[in-house]
Amino acid sequence: MRIVSNAQVSSVSLDQHSRFSVGTVSGCYLSPAVIIATGGASWPDTGSTGDGYAISAALGHRIVAPKPALVPLVVREKTLARSMQGVSLRNVRATAFQREAASVDSSHTPDCDYGRGEKKTPRPPVLESRFGEMLFAHFGLGGPIILLMSLAVVEALEKGPVSILIDLKPALTGEQLRKRLQSDLNKFSKRKITGIMKEYLPAKMIEPVIALSGMDTEKLAHQVSAIERDRIIDLLKALRFNIKAPLPLARAIVTAGGVALDEIDPRTLSSKKVPGLYFCGEVMDLDADTGGYNLQAAFSTGYVAGESAAGFSRSLLRA
Ligand SMILES: Cc1cc2nc3c(=O)[nH]c(=O)nc-3n(C[C@H](O)[C@H](O)[C@H](O)COP(=O)(O)OP(=O)(O)OC[C@H]3O[C@@H](n4cnc5c(N)ncnc54)[C@H](O)[C@@H]3O)c2cc1C
Repeated sequence: MRIVSNAQVSSVSLDQHSRFSVGTVSGCYLSPAVIIATGGASWPDTGSTGDGYAISAALGHRIVAPKPALVPLVVREKTLARSMQGVSLRNVRATAFQREAASVDSSHTPDCDYGRGEKKTPRPPVLESRFGEMLFAHFGLGGPIILLMSLAVVEALEKGPVSILIDLKPALTGEQLRKRLQSDLNKFSKRKITGIMKEYLPAKMIEPVIALSGMDTEKLAHQVSAIERDRIIDLLKALRFNIKAPLPLARAIVTAGGVALDEIDPRTLSSKKVPGLYFCGEVMDLDADTGGYNLQAAFSTGYVAGESAAGFSRSLLRA
């Protein structure tokens, strides 16, 4: 066996003897079997530049349009996101809606997770809802729960506007939160509202959230009206963002789309179109949630494709 490394493959074709001819910068290699294991088109610096799609298409395979999955999301409220850049939130609920943010009725925010891997399907306009950790970036939203719901958001953006509402206090109902805040406003009546909010928000979020409520940050607790208090409650229960786009495919952790699965035998990972051709990993139309599932898919399909391709080559030698 010969291992050739650091040789970029530019083409794979079949010669008249049904042998594969693998064209690289350093020469051409003939083989009875080929495994396409070129990955997706995300993070091209790691070598996965999407070459496998063109190579597979040239061999007659259908390519499901690649799109970003597990990808941070750019928001229209960039100034707000930038003002909270770097803040990481735990135990929050993010819910994606197929609506403009302003038109979402926040009482539709579910109290359980919806999305891939969950048993129940959400009721429109809810697209997905996830509880856990997320963060603000200068362009918008990122972190685990945002990445998890990003593919649903990417697909929904093709149909219309998408917003994400963040419930910063999912353990409390709006009424419970109102009572607690009113009690704090009464108890610490001479404190500034910014001081009171320290109990409710990370430091970097206090001024942006108070500004959103339209209140003066210098206001003392006893000067806060019931309407202003309720506006703060609304923001704590539903911080609204309109999603503009995902970050580009090159910045997605995983590429969704790829070689169509109905043209691949799932038992052997062989092409149903070209004998001796095999696929494994992200070049195929498969993607999974965070948690190591994409790596596991690459390892498992790599093993099966390797065993199958070796078996195919041996069977030709015996013939
Ligand atoms: C930043 C980041 C974090 C991630 N974190 C996780 C995680 O925590 N858990 C998880 O499950 N998944 C994670 N993933 C996804 C996971 O890494 C991929 O799903 C997995 O590596 C896909 O494996 P693969 O073998 O199909 O492709 P790749 O690992 O992309 O390997 C493809 C290989 O093919 C080579 N290649 C491409 N084109 C050519 C060509 N023309 N000629 C020769 N060689 C070529 C590339 O150089 C590369 O070495 C992450 C991905 C990124 C980018």
